[in-house]
Amino acid sequence: MANGKIGVTTENIFPVIKKFLYSNHEIFLRELVANAVDATQKMKAVAGKGDFKGELGDLTIHVDVDEKAGTIKITDRGIGMTREEVDKYINQIAFSSAGEFLEKYKDQLNNIIGHFGLGFYSSFMVSKSVKIETLSWKEGAKGVEWLCDGSPEYKMEEVERSDRGTTITLYIDDESKEFASKAKIRELLDKYCKFMPVPIACGKEQEWKDGKYVDTDKDKIINDTAPLWAKAPSEIKDEEYLDFYRKLYPMQEDPLFYIHLNVDYPFNLTGILYFPKIKDRMDIAKNKIQLYCNQMFVTDSVENIVPDFLTLLYGVIDSPDIPLNVSRSYLQEDSNVKKISTYITRKVADRLEEISKNEHEAYEKKWDNLKLFIEYGMLSDEKFYERALKFALFKTTDGKFFKYDDFKKLIEPEQTDKNKKLVYLYATDPVAQYSYIEAAKNKGYQVLLFDCQLDAHFVNLLESKFHDSSFARVDADSIDNLIEKENREKPQLQENEETDLSFAFTSILPKDANYHIKADNLGVTAAPILITQSEFMRRYRDMSALGGGLNFYGQMPDSYTVVLNCENPLIKKLLDEKHNQTSSRIDEINAKLTAAKSALDELANKTKDKKDEEISTAEKDKKESLNKEIDALSEQRKEVMEKFAAGNVLIKQITDLALLSNNMLKGKELNDFVNRSLEILK
Ligand code: ADP
Repeated sequence: MANGKIGVTTENIFPVIKKFLYSNHEIFLRELVANAVDATQKMKAVAGKGDFKGELGDLTIHVDVDEKAGTIKITDRGIGMTREEVDKYINQIAFSSAGEFLEKYKDQLNNIIGHFGLGFYSSFMVSKSVKIETLSWKEGAKGVEWLCDGSPEYKMEEVERSDRGTTITLYIDDESKEFASKAKIRELLDKYCKFMPVPIACGKEQEWKDGKYVDTDKDKIINDTAPLWAKAPSEIKDEEYLDFYRKLYPMQEDPLFYIHLNVDYPFNLTGILYFPKIKDRMDIAKNKIQLYCNQMFVTDSVENIVPDFLTLLYGVIDSPDIPLNVSRSYLQEDSNVKKISTYITRKVADRLEEISKNEHEAYEKKWDNLKLFIEYGMLSDEKFYERALKFALFKTTDGKFFKYDDFKKLIEPEQTDKNKKLVYLYATDPVAQYSYIEAAKNKGYQVLLFDCQLDAHFVNLLESKFHDSSFARVDADSIDNLIEKENREKPQLQENEETDLSFAFTSILPKDANYHIKADNLGVTAAPILITQSEFMRRYRDMSALGGGLNFYGQMPDSYTVVLNCENPLIKKLLDEKHNQTSSRIDEINAKLTAAKSALDELANKTKDKKDEEISTAEKDKKESLNKEIDALSEQRKEVMEKFAAGNVLIKQITDLALLSNNMLKGKELNDFVNRSLEILK
């Protein structure tokens, strides 16, 4: 028997371990089982080399919980340890490195917990004392028992032990009682050890007997030692990939595709990634990928290891080359992690390209559920953007799909404007924007469907990447203005007539938004009035709604352009009515206005070379009074127009119809419109 003192400088490291690692005590089990797996695999290697002559026997690792005694035992039949080895690996290395470790990482322990193999001493997070009983495989080795009660002192003595390997017994402390439970340990084994490469038994298989479940003699093996990702892809059937997914994510809809990753140079990585169906933003679940290290579960948050958009995928990545002992923020800087991240991005792109080529139709069918992922990738990863140009699709409002290049070729002849700019038209809501889409299609144009939440950003991205191109939503202006061709005739209006129309329409339009009135020729068959919202304004509002900053635009009232189609017979009729009802009064005002304006011009001419102090008071007064007169006359015109609008049914009716077709007529205005329409029908 030998007593000793563990070589740690800190007075007593165990309270420190407990305190710092408070958030994740449960990993002790993973660490101890991983040690047992290690020892077992080393044993196999020793036997494989022929150094060990005896029988390997059953290598199952046993995890036994004694709820009454409050103990957990982990037993392996691995290489075991000699007395010297316990001294070296446990007393010196394990504990001294615990001290160093704590010194070094005091500040960031919480960040790296779960990433750092805490090793054997993590058992003290949950135990008041820990016992090791071990027998080395080496010939003539003696059994060793080591006992430590959480102070830096330990006891070590030789004991009789017949079984090769190691048993670690944890005497669970009072604060950690939850772990002295079979159910809890099963749950943790399922979380951390489900795919470890050596069979792990915990409890017994049960059977239904005499109205209840009872234990059988058969050990319950809790893990799958040969998970799918560790097998050669050529040996796996599609159905097996699907089964594996269903086992990992029992509540999920089946995935769209999978990718089997398998590389051993310049780093080692295996894994299977699945593309989930993502229909909208609400469906996005990040961190569904599980990270393993040699089949040992490490974490289910892979951010900083793969590019952000890939965290939308599901599945498993297993790599011993991802450093686990650095804090998360350093991970991205690690050269292996960089290579791994590039590799996975490339593989994902390869697979998408392959499917888009070979399974063309299936790919189109899946597009709606894939689009958000691909657009997110293109938005956030430059390399992925370049690759995706080959497999990203445009979908039109007619439900047709095109690769980018093909679509460009298709629309180039028709949708290039007079400035040689190619205009991509799109709709975000085919129902609400129906009439605009129809107007575009009547011109022979194609309209893309951009109805996903990321599209506001995506349109900006494409516009910045595509040369000599712009994107316009179909309702951003009249179709002839969106794609402006040569020699378009503007409407012939009298002087100030557009302003008069503006006075008239503004007075009857709803007051909660700004309206800019504009006269244009949209064709004889096109609607009399078109309400549009500028592409620029709307896009910035959309972006600010998505949380892209730019709140200034988000808070401004909506602003629309009301285009009066002067070729439409109803607008022609309205212009006639306006003329008949207002021209005598307007002509009168106009005459005064012209006189006032020319007097003002004359005055301006006279004083144009004078400095301010040389202009006489009389001149200044006259200027002021002329300006006032002009303002007053304008005001009079406005009143005439407002009066006209108030008494004219046609202007109200066509305005309301335009609002109605944009879903903008509500409440009292809608009610007034209905009553007015009924009145007309009488
Ligand atoms: P690590 O496993 O990271 O090396 P640990 O503190 O977990 O650190 O273990 C220290 C050493 O103790 C191991 O490297 C191994 O040599 C030895 N050891 C721990 N557990 C066992 C075991 N079950 N069987 C044999 N040796 C073990």
